[in-house]
Amino acid sequence: MKIFDNLLSLYYPRLCVACGDALQQNEQHLCLHCMMHLPETNFHKNHDNPLMNIFAGRVKVEEVASLLYYKKGNNVQHILHALKYKGQKEIGSYLGEYYGKILALEPRFQSVDCIIPIPLHPKKQRKRGYNQSEWFAKGLSAGMGKPYRTDILTRTQFTETQTRKSRFNRWENVKEVFVATEDNAVHGLHLLVCDDVLTTGATMEAAIQQLLTLPDVKVSVVTLATAQG
Ligand SMILES: [Zn+2]
Repeated sequence: MKIFDNLLSLYYPRLCVACGDALQQNEQHLCLHCMMHLPETNFHKNHDNPLMNIFAGRVKVEEVASLLYYKKGNNVQHILHALKYKGQKEIGSYLGEYYGKILALEPRFQSVDCIIPIPLHPKKQRKRGYNQSEWFAKGLSAGMGKPYRTDILTRTQFTETQTRKSRFNRWENVKEVFVATEDNAVHGLHLLVCDDVLTTGATMEAAIQQLLTLPDVKVSVVTLATAQG
């Protein structure tokens, strides 16, 4: 099997998702150099971090954290692009598990009961073949030892035009698209909503508004990357 793997990588070298260099046999998805130089935010260490300000006065969240800083042209942009547009969904679960293990050590995240990925519209998911947030959720679930569920939060309408609208209008546009399913099993739980990237928080805010309509639910947020802070 090992010989076969070696031959295979001779013809089809596995490449680092971030820098494009060929991976060594013991490396997965990211080369050691990129893994060691990930621009981590460490926001999970402080309750009062810059991401909390995004939601202040808009919607109640318990905790907000993000694994990586996203900047135009940095390695994280390559990772997000590969995750979203190049079918490399495994990088989502790989970094999700990495972050999940870190979060599992933080008392403020230990009370999380269930992980909820932000859903894609079904039409978009059919086109892409997968939901990148769900792959991130899978990894978080493995790392934190908590279940994830995709049936609690669903999406109702396509919001293709939302990027052309102002922040206020964008919110108006997305606020009706999420639906939280009434399920007694999630009443009173601490839900961890996750997505690939956090920017203005408009989409996340709309999703959280819906989840908070469920009785006694608390919501925290984790994303793979953020452009804020
Ligand atoms: Zn690399």
